[in-house]
Amino acid sequence: MMLRKAISLMAAFAGLPLLALAHDGHGHFHGYQLAHYFTSSEHAIPIALALVAGVAFFIARRWALAKKESGK
Ligand SMILES: [Zn+2]
Repeated sequence: MMLRKAISLMAAFAGLPLLALAHDGHGHFHGYQLAHYFTSSEHAIPIALALVAGVAFFIARRWALAKKESGK
C-alpha cells in the first residue's frame, strides 16, 4: 500500500512541469493559457503520457478492485 502511495506521488510530481509557466514564444496562445498546452505540438508528448498514465491508473485500480472482490 505504501508503494502505491509513493508511485501516485511520483506520478503527480512528474506532471508538475506541465504547469511551468515560464515559457513563451512558441505555439499558439500564451504559456499561462490552458489552450496553449492543447494546441502546441511541443506539449503533445507530455499530455499523451499524462493521459496514458491516467488510463493505466484507472485500469489498475479497477483490476485491483475486481481481484479483491473475487477473493483471490
Ligand atoms: Zn509551451
